[in-house]
Amino acid sequence: MITLTSAQIVQETALRWKKEGHAMALVPTMGALHRGHIALVQEARVRATRVIVSIFVNPLQFGAGEDLKQYPRPIKEDSEALEKAGVDLLFRPSPEEMYPPKFSTSVRVGALSQHLCGAHRPGHFDGVATVCLKLFQITQPDFAVFGEKDFQQLQILTRLVEDLNLPMAVVPFPTVRETDGLALSSRNAYLSREEREIAPMLSKALHDARQQASDGSLRAGEILGPVTETLVRAGLRTQYVSLCSETDLMPVADNIPLDQVPKPRLFIAAYLGKTRLIDNLSLSQV
Ligand code: AMP
Repeated sequence: MITLTSAQIVQETALRWKKEGHAMALVPTMGALHRGHIALVQEARVRATRVIVSIFVNPLQFGAGEDLKQYPRPIKEDSEALEKAGVDLLFRPSPEEMYPPKFSTSVRVGALSQHLCGAHRPGHFDGVATVCLKLFQITQPDFAVFGEKDFQQLQILTRLVEDLNLPMAVVPFPTVRETDGLALSSRNAYLSREEREIAPMLSKALHDARQQASDGSLRAGEILGPVTETLVRAGLRTQYVSLCSETDLMPVADNIPLDQVPKPRLFIAAYLGKTRLIDNLSLSQV
């Protein structure tokens, strides 16, 4: 595995590989890698002959008071894990490399960024879209793999690629979970022992709702109410519990029956102490 910090050298390398006829994959990450990230890399490895992984804790996507400084950066362990997973190139730029002093462009994917995390983290998805477009330009992938764990991000980047006619595909990958259901996340490391015991309630509430949703005549509000109640009772502070159609990520009104929602998906963001956790699950019964 080659490790590079220069955007220009990565781009030259990628263009050379492309010319040689390689199928190229990118897996963008912020590091502190876990089995979820490695599963994305393995998916890329199966489909491509050159796999590039980026590790960049992107300041643009962190708001004031969020965990930019504190975000874990275990670079030695991450490098070893990527080497073992058969990655060809690790791109690990500094913030100055990505955003030199005169940098002034921002990419905004409109409607899809409005609700869910977009409503609670102003500017977050502009930061994500901007860094990802840069990473796509630098690494020239035929496809990039993104996890459904961050479903809104996945939809936003899919739209960006389509809207801007980028010659690449966005490949979704299902959420990888612990045996107790907790979605793997680099931020799970922030949880105390007591909080870690409560954390699986997110996925439990989602899966319970999915079971309930087999009755398609239930209205959105009848699904959302019990979910919020379960979470609050377990000691979580919910930021949002929202039922949306996957197609537009617009929250569905409480009085709408589930079987009238195309591709319904349930989204949760909740705080456990200071740690913000997110999870989501399709409520489609097929
Ligand atoms: P992050 O390092 O948190 O920015 O995540 C990098 C990529 O890994 C994103 O596409 C995430 O959606 C994906 N990812 C994070 N956690 C998981 C998980 N538990 N299962 C699948 N993909 C994940």
